Amino acid sequence: MYLDRMNYLEVEEYLKTKDTIIIVTGSTENHGKHNPLGTDTFIPVKIMELFEEKYSDEVVIAPALPYGSTEDLKGFPGTVSVGPDLLTEILNRICDDLFDYGFRRFIIVNGHGGNSKSIERTGLHIYKRGGLLARVDWWLIAGELNPMWRGGNGGGEETAGVMAYDETLIKREYLNEGENMVNDLGENLPTYKWTTVLFEGGSVVIPRPMKSITDNGWMAYGMPDAPSRAEKKWGLEMVTAMADYVEHFLKAFETAILPKN
Ligand SMILES: [Zn+2]
Repeated sequence: MYLDRMNYLEVEEYLKTKDTIIIVTGSTENHGKHNPLGTDTFIPVKIMELFEEKYSDEVVIAPALPYGSTEDLKGFPGTVSVGPDLLTEILNRICDDLFDYGFRRFIIVNGHGGNSKSIERTGLHIYKRGGLLARVDWWLIAGELNPMWRGGNGGGEETAGVMAYDETLIKREYLNEGENMVNDLGENLPTYKWTTVLFEGGSVVIPRPMKSITDNGWMAYGMPDAPSRAEKKWGLEMVTAMADYVEHFLKAFETAILPKN
């Protein structure tokens, strides 16, 4: 059930027997020419839509947060980052208010890696208050459930996920574009994946904007994750598997022992 479709009496009633809420965190950022900027929001939203269809009375689902922390993708027009500090603050405020009404368990179904540290900071904040937060990074777990689903930023995995959400958002004419990575730091420090360079067989991270590393912005971090292999069928199987995974996790998380504060 969706929080924003309930009235406060229904929330009060829910809190008499339950204390868990699910929040989707996404991002508005470049995912290659073939994907929409809302990729990281749309896919976890779709996962929760499927969840809601199958398990509607099990848990309250809060409105999705469509902005995240995506500092390294700035420069591709339309990409918006609230930064890690403000994201932590926003999540703290959302969880604090919900905590005050009686929510104690927070499941963050996250669509964007740049949000992870902020979500963890909020998790520790909530722990100190006597609650628990779990971060469910859908794209990593999907890749653990099925290695064929593993993927990077805007690669086959996310492209298939967007196809499951709304196939018309995919610009198919760009599906065969390469990552177009360049050695922006010169030949002595060749780009390996994302901001990592290879030096004498070792991986060294040199933080810099993604715009200086690739001109289209999808990246597979060395995995075989070409967008051209994406199919709607794969996307639907994957988001359905994730909806079921979230439901199973919810059941276990509801039994987790809360910190004694
Ligand atoms: Zn993404």
